[in-house]
Amino acid sequence: MDVLKEMKRGGHEQVLFCKDDASGLRAIIAVHSTLLGPALGGVRMWPYASTDEALHDVLRLAQAMTYKAAAADLPLGGGKAVIIGDPKRAKSEQLLKAFGRAVESLGGRYLTAEDVGMTVADMEIVRQETRHVTGTSEKSGGSGDPSCLTAKGVFYSIETCLKELYGDPSVKNRTVAIQGVGNVGYQLAELLAMADARLIIADPDAQRAMLARREFEAWRVEPDEILQVECDVLSPCALGGVLTRKTIPKLRCRAIAGAANNQLEEPADADRLAERRILYAPDYVVGAGGIINIVVGLQGGRKGYDRAKAERLARRIPVTLQEVFGEARARGITPSQAADELAEARLNGARAQRAKGRARARKARRSR
Ligand code: NAD
Repeated sequence: MDVLKEMKRGGHEQVLFCKDDASGLRAIIAVHSTLLGPALGGVRMWPYASTDEALHDVLRLAQAMTYKAAAADLPLGGGKAVIIGDPKRAKSEQLLKAFGRAVESLGGRYLTAEDVGMTVADMEIVRQETRHVTGTSEKSGGSGDPSCLTAKGVFYSIETCLKELYGDPSVKNRTVAIQGVGNVGYQLAELLAMADARLIIADPDAQRAMLARREFEAWRVEPDEILQVECDVLSPCALGGVLTRKTIPKLRCRAIAGAANNQLEEPADADRLAERRILYAPDYVVGAGGIINIVVGLQGGRKGYDRAKAERLARRIPVTLQEVFGEARARGITPSQAADELAEARLNGARAQRAKGRARARKARRSR
């Protein structure tokens, strides 16, 4: 992969390759944009088959974070990090600390957090080497695990989809299929079960799947079946790239709303969904609960994390989603395009502000 060419195409500001022989760390940090604020994005640990695969993933994920923060109107840019390796076997204190030093070297341009394959406890170790880490435990003054608020945002988004489809947001007796009952998916299942939704779940982690099946009286299917089950809403809460040219023709859902980042394999998949009359709630609008949680933690400073404020801000997610659906309906465009335009308008606004600021500074220098 020609890295600079890819960065130019995606509009990325910076990419840092990190290697530490003592701990075995091999990581990539991508800073997509710092236009609205420091680039925030979790660190994912995954056994990528190659550096190219990891690079492709981190560039796409970092860009999605910029759009996620912009669409949610948060003072943050977008970034992401990936650590190449199996979290169950290759993760060690030494490796996490080496990653922390790499984050520190960026001087705050990139703020890290937990993502797939990482935990709040891991973030505590990373924090020993850098201040630029979020999502640490509430006990240590952080905002804690963001997945609880992410799950709430997904729940509100599912209600918004149902309102758009049937005129009634209630999940009662509606069928929701959840792909992945990990941190987010499990808590989402809990919220849905409490509201009397019917659940179908799948997870290759047999223990997790069994637990969700038992706790929430969910119907369990195999991971390769979940995308094809008949349901009102499909909620992808595992990995990205699940909505593709191959999977979309087989879907039997009326709407899609989940936390997984980059659910569409390529932009044309949004049109494929529209052709099948499946309502797609753009993933970065739906999954904004996690970064809202983090922003509230950052703004709390010494006073700490304000849970009530985070809950209040998460209520903006369905409002934004409604706006996106309304715009898409009115203009005959896909919700993805409507969400992209909303985010880009905010980014363009910031760009114009920055240009004005620079012009003012130049003028002031000249008149000195
Ligand atoms: P997690 O690792 O805790 O859970 C993912 C679950 O998906 C695991 O249980 C895993 O076994 C399962 N899984 C993997 N492949 C699967 C498959 N093919 N079919 C079904 N299940 C499968 O991760 P998480 O924190 O719950 O995050 C889930 C997704 O949401 C990720 O894409 C993440 O980037 C995104 N996200 C998470 C947050 C957050 O706050 N944690 C915020 C925004 C977005």
